[in-house]
Amino acid sequence: MIEVNKIYHSFEIGKKEKKTVIPVLKDVSFQINKGEIVSIVGKSGSGKSTLLNIISGFIKPTDGEVKINNQTVTELSEGEFASFRLQHIGFIFQNFQLIPSMTAFQNVELPLTFKGMNEKERKQKTLETLERVGLAEFKDHYPSELSGGQQQRVSIARALVVNPPLILADEPTGSLDSDTEKSLLAFIKQLNEELGITFLIITHDEEVAEFGHRTIEIVDGHVLEEVGK
Ligand code: ATP
Ligand code: MG
Repeated sequence: MIEVNKIYHSFEIGKKEKKTVIPVLKDVSFQINKGEIVSIVGKSGSGKSTLLNIISGFIKPTDGEVKINNQTVTELSEGEFASFRLQHIGFIFQNFQLIPSMTAFQNVELPLTFKGMNEKERKQKTLETLERVGLAEFKDHYPSELSGGQQQRVSIARALVVNPPLILADEPTGSLDSDTEKSLLAFIKQLNEELGITFLIITHDEEVAEFGHRTIEIVDGHVLEEVGK
């Protein structure tokens, strides 16, 4: 499903003479199989978000390649990656990243609009997805009128609405209390078992890390260990 091959990444900061190169990822390689739930752990600043941003095409790596479903995505142009993303990848973020001026329904509908789906199908699919996350009755609420857990469910619905085979999540439980976190994890497990969705989840939370099938740890820019279960 995902093949990460010899990824190197450095950030450059400052200008000309004062330029500093910050190496973040060094020779990072691993594979993720279809249907797995894999956690990525590592200290703050170890490069977890950078790695996820490379896999999702928001950052081009300094070197190395990423394949998703046999497509070498690191070769795609920005525009090609954007449409690849719409077909293959859903995202869940720590701070939800919902659009505040749009209702829950409109937030979830947005990826389908980008995809060019016709209105009737779009409305139906949006409602169906909000039902799946248990939020149909909150569809006309704005994000500010929802609890943190509900907002996170809207963001999951927005990730799910295009039926992606893969969901990438950066600290998805970071802003949730422990009960809400438990129900989110149960929901992820259900999506994994029922729909076969593959999950790659960055977390600093041990409970989340242990919940996955496998853990990948980043230390000093390297994948230090892959702990199987
Ligand atoms: P956290 O757990 O705190 O979210 P992280 O493991 O996700 O940390 P990254 O955000 O990937 O860490 O950052 C890795 C390193 O790269 C850090 O030292 C950070 O300062 C640096 N970095 C990240 N983005 C940039 C950028 N756009 N420009 C320069 N340096 C960056
Ligand atoms: Mg991060």
